[in-house]
Amino acid sequence: MAEQLALGEERTAVAKFGRELVEKDLTSGVGGNLSQRDDERVAISPSGIPYDRIDAEDVPVVTVDGEHVEGDLRPSSETPMHTMIYRKRPDVGAVVHTHSPYATTFASLGQEIPASHYLVEFAGGTEIPVADFDLPGSEELGQHAVDALGDDYNGCLLQNHGVIAVGDTVSRAVETAQMIEFTARIHYQASNIGEPIILEDEKIEALLDGLEEYRSLK
Ligand SMILES: [Zn+2]
Repeated sequence: MAEQLALGEERTAVAKFGRELVEKDLTSGVGGNLSQRDDERVAISPSGIPYDRIDAEDVPVVTVDGEHVEGDLRPSSETPMHTMIYRKRPDVGAVVHTHSPYATTFASLGQEIPASHYLVEFAGGTEIPVADFDLPGSEELGQHAVDALGDDYNGCLLQNHGVIAVGDTVSRAVETAQMIEFTARIHYQASNIGEPIILEDEKIEALLDGLEEYRSLK
């Protein structure tokens, strides 16, 4: 039973929302990874196992320093990026990484996604920033993601690679990953027809205040 597992709640959430990543077309097969922490310990998706075959007890647990402490399966190859984000952002409780196609299109152009749709607010700023490229699984990539997220962003693109979304729970991080993909798709489509109208920073900042209020009531 999940309740009897160490970090059972977090491991259950990782298994459940891994399936949601697939259902929401944010990833396929074994692509991407997700984690949720409880203070110094992190439940993270295992490496190379399809999401529909992952149950709570299969989800490995690592420390925020990356040491594997529970579960038989190998933790995600992107564990260094997840744990580095947790070490640098005490406010972050969950990390989701996808290769969702529209957002990754902009990542491959090295282009930030501007506020051509107001839902850019889910990423926590007036645009969605881009982290520099480094090899998947490397500490350097983790450092670039930390730099792009700074203290306030809830999401960024990884140049030539994909997307990072963070939140206080894995549910919210998945929602943010979904909004980033939607915003990217709308910007792509609008740019194909004409010149998208970019919302002023002040408008997005006002929305960001409202989003915080909305989420505190949720
Ligand atoms: Zn990746």
